[in-house]
Amino acid sequence: MYDSGAGNADGFDRLKRCIEKAVGISTNLTITDNSSSLLTITTKDKTLVVRAHKMFLTAPFGVMKEIANIASNKKTKNSVIKKYIKDNADSIKTPPINRKRTVITQGKFHDLREMFDAVNSTYFGGSISCVITWARRSSMGFAKRRRLGAYNSELGIITINPVLDKPLIPRYIVEYIIYHEMLHIGVGVRRGKNKRSVHFREFKELERQFKDYEAVVSFIKGNFDLFH
Ligand SMILES: [Zn+2]
Repeated sequence: MYDSGAGNADGFDRLKRCIEKAVGISTNLTITDNSSSLLTITTKDKTLVVRAHKMFLTAPFGVMKEIANIASNKKTKNSVIKKYIKDNADSIKTPPINRKRTVITQGKFHDLREMFDAVNSTYFGGSISCVITWARRSSMGFAKRRRLGAYNSELGIITINPVLDKPLIPRYIVEYIIYHEMLHIGVGVRRGKNKRSVHFREFKELERQFKDYEAVVSFIKGNFDLFH
């Protein structure tokens, strides 16, 4: 239920190596699309946990070095990072939507915008900003791939499969699909041993925090015919 992502493997490895070299412990790096929290560095179980906005993937060495300095508690003024963020401010704005793309939030039965706002305030403190729309019935690889939702990080758009716009589909199902796609924005992309990972373990743990998670799983299992 996810398509494109913020992938820049070279930058990812470069940043990870740079930090690990500076701190000398293993680093769990996550790249995010979250513009309200550009860089956080914490430790958990002797592992350094770094969450960085995707702009840092292409940062010059000086910026990466400063991130490594912060991680290893060296004194630093963060001035290089601050300047870099300022220079790259454009990349953290929600991208302008393609004019040709029609955004439809009000379905026949379910209103995506209203649900998005509710999920945003319940689970993300209102921090996620992006466009949401029903997919055109004819469009997308949605039907073929049985995809219920997708997040396009280039366009900053969440698209929801219109098969969900039925009175028999409960509100919590649509909210859950929206929640899943918003998690992609909130937690970002991680890189596994060999490939980019979008549904990593912590992602799945967060999915289970959805308040009706058990009901969602059993509804989808028991009503498969409704989803096409
Ligand atoms: Zn997904």
